[in-house]
Amino acid sequence: MSFQVLGLNPKILQAVTEAGYTEPTPIQSATIPPIIAGHDLIGIAQTGTGKTAAFTLPMLTKLAAAQAAAGPNRRTRVLILAPTRELVVQIEENIRAYAKHLPLTIATVFGGVGEQPQIRALRSNTDIVVACPGRLLDLLGRRNGDFSGLEFLVLDEADRMLDMGFLPSIRQIVRQLPKQRQTLMFSATLSKEIEALTHEFQRTPKIVQIGRRSNPAETVTQLVYEVPKHLKTALLVHLMKEPAMDMVLVFSRMKHAADRLARQLEQAGIRTATLHSNRSQNQRLRALQDFKAGTVRVLVATDIAARGIDVDGISHVVNYDFPMHVEDYIHRIGRTGRANQIGDAISFVTNEDHGELRALERFIGRGLVRKKAEGFNYTSAAPPYNPAEEERRQPRHQQQRGQRPPRNDQREPRGPQNYSRPSAGPRPPQSGRPQFGSRPQGGRPQSSGAPRPPQREVNGNREGGNERHFPSTAPRPGGFRRRFGLR
Ligand code: AMP
Repeated sequence: MSFQVLGLNPKILQAVTEAGYTEPTPIQSATIPPIIAGHDLIGIAQTGTGKTAAFTLPMLTKLAAAQAAAGPNRRTRVLILAPTRELVVQIEENIRAYAKHLPLTIATVFGGVGEQPQIRALRSNTDIVVACPGRLLDLLGRRNGDFSGLEFLVLDEADRMLDMGFLPSIRQIVRQLPKQRQTLMFSATLSKEIEALTHEFQRTPKIVQIGRRSNPAETVTQLVYEVPKHLKTALLVHLMKEPAMDMVLVFSRMKHAADRLARQLEQAGIRTATLHSNRSQNQRLRALQDFKAGTVRVLVATDIAARGIDVDGISHVVNYDFPMHVEDYIHRIGRTGRANQIGDAISFVTNEDHGELRALERFIGRGLVRKKAEGFNYTSAAPPYNPAEEERRQPRHQQQRGQRPPRNDQREPRGPQNYSRPSAGPRPPQSGRPQFGSRPQGGRPQSSGAPRPPQREVNGNREGGNERHFPSTAPRPGGFRRRFGLR
């Protein structure tokens, strides 16, 4: 099928051709005609399937067809809500490319950066606003922006926004929008919660489902390297000798562990950047730019920070730390093999990860190929105790005394707020002694040098302020779905 038959505006077709797209992806073929026809729509599609263009191209076509009010009566016409700043920036970049021949204005709104430019953009009633819910609600609460003439509302990665506790903010925002509008929702899963959301926000939406959620992109080769925990970094450095590993996204569970790994890779002569929510917005954008430009070969990221990363040509995704949730695995490896490119997903699996690996294999319905790295010494001893390294393992706020703490709106919520979903692993004991009356602490023993059990990050600003809190859950019987936090 060609883009020509989908009814798009000629100026948008021109931009699409200039972007190098020759034919629509399946989700685009399926969503563009009903959106142009004016239907509400729920799109269920994996990440990397071209869903941004799937909702943007038809919306732009309709915006171009309907004359907007000029001058003081001008009002915002499109609101797109997305869970993370990175995703907001990427959506904006895509829209700018697709709308480059149209006289439309676009602005982004998210926390962690100065609010004045965002306030100015909202007050000048920019045509298209792409926003994270928390900051937008904050600015709307102070009477910035006029959404009374809104024509389109898009909720992108709706499932993630629910997981991150944005529902109350989204509800408050939607209350301020006109009822007469077109609402488009995109999600990787069609859960009961998402269905409830469609009833709340949409009118008889068309449902478009592309692929099964549990199928990672077919173009991604998935490999498992079983490795002792203390040799994971050495194995990564060893694998990086392979020139084909030229654009590598490495996933670490913890922010300070990501920094440590980046330092070790740099020491081994591998240019590396990090992406996690302790870094300032500018640092995160810089890291992404350097990675896209090839200035650094490796980007070490945590799950939330990497969500929605749209970088073409990632050759390898490495699960340095095995993900605790099947959904994270699918999201992580979806960063490579995008738009039908070939990519490899490598998972390091230690003795402690075998339970999660088995559950993942059950979920995707097949075993993953085990590989041994040629010429790698799997029997090396653990590195000797190094007090300086132990010092570096401390969280940054404890080591870097005298350094200015991050500003309030850049700080991550602490304590239980960091758990946005049930954690499959046990919580760390509060002290060295067992707690009376607490749940039995199953799972791995925690030695002082061992990394803490995984905490799920939330967006590093006030976006996380309205999170749902789930009780801590020690591993319970009930099958892998529950263990992986799947509904
Ligand atoms: P998305 O799922 O929106 O994050 O898109 C994934 C990637 O696919 C992005 O890099 C897009 O630029 C690219 N893409 C989107 N639509 C097409 C298309 N029709 N042909 C080729 N690449 C596309």
